[in-house]
Amino acid sequence: MPKPKLFIPGPVDISPATYEAMCAPMIGHRGPDFEELYSSIQPGLQQIACTTRPVFLSTSSAWGVMEGAIRNLVQQKVLNLCCGAFSDKWFDVAQRCGKKAEKIQVEWGTPLDPDSVRSRLAEGGFDAVTLVHNETSTGVMNPLAEIADVVNEFDDVLLIVDSVSSFSAVPIATDQLGIDLLLAGVQKAMALPPGLSVFVASEAALARAESTPDRGYYFDFLEFARNHGKNNTPSTPSISLLQGLDAMVASILKEGLPNRYQRHAENNALVHQWVEERGFAHFAPEGYRSRTLTAVANNQEIDVPAFVKTVREKHNFLINGGYGKIKGRTFRLSNMGNETPESMKELLAALDDVLPEFV
Ligand SMILES: *Cc1c(COP(=O)(O)O)cnc(C)c1O
Repeated sequence: MPKPKLFIPGPVDISPATYEAMCAPMIGHRGPDFEELYSSIQPGLQQIACTTRPVFLSTSSAWGVMEGAIRNLVQQKVLNLCCGAFSDKWFDVAQRCGKKAEKIQVEWGTPLDPDSVRSRLAEGGFDAVTLVHNETSTGVMNPLAEIADVVNEFDDVLLIVDSVSSFSAVPIATDQLGIDLLLAGVQKAMALPPGLSVFVASEAALARAESTPDRGYYFDFLEFARNHGKNNTPSTPSISLLQGLDAMVASILKEGLPNRYQRHAENNALVHQWVEERGFAHFAPEGYRSRTLTAVANNQEIDVPAFVKTVREKHNFLINGGYGKIKGRTFRLSNMGNETPESMKELLAALDDVLPEFV
């Protein structure tokens, strides 16, 4: 079968320019060529992450840093804010790391409520909170600024934020919001192949790590900080991905961040319009909908797996038939990465071509 163009919420379609950048000659990672590559990526990544802090580069998928955040930053007890597959899993991972963890659980498709975070933290005993900004499984974008304000009311509680599927597509004011750990994988809105994550640690986060035992080695944030001082990474990084990242960061800055945010918003609005005009509904409530993907509620009870299969077979586009326990009750259309209004319209036309067989 020919490989389809990806409209799943990660990995997404990769541009020829990115593939080309990744085919640059290999370089050694302990030497000036690598130091130059590493330092050339920094200023752009800092702009995208809205930070003056270093942006560390981890050769792992996002879960590596998500687990690392627990191991480096939780000493007493973590509060996991759970609203979908990824955020729920973080609670599980915290326990697997041997940490004390409690959760606020809301129903999938619902955003987290800042007031409930405040009352839970007021009970005391917590030293960290995990939040998934854009819950990719449900298409919910949580109120990051409001929740950050609440967490900042509590001294010594660190805010750990997963922006995996929103990073570079919507503004995230890392420093201004007082986010202590911001992390993202590159295979979502950054449109790179998977295998690399970026993260920013606040001064408070690094200070916490210093007194946290059993941080391990591969995801020890202090190792990243030490090596950053030498424009380097603790262990051999995925150099080809960094070469791709260097080119992607340059292309994002060339597009301009405001334009990039606007393009994602426009692409997303096209999908929303399609959802509404075709008689479907949104799985996420108004005001809390992701701008990088759309989780469509299957209110018309179409055969989602067959729909996904037919779209692929007839048009060579791959969409997603829903995640985990909401498979089939939802399907997801991604607009993240390099998509344009034209490419989104091609996808929507393909869906229109196939849909009449199913409703
Ligand atoms: C994809 C995703 C992850 C997991 O990323 P991996 O690359 O599989 O480790 C975590 N959080 C969110 C919100 C995601 O969309």
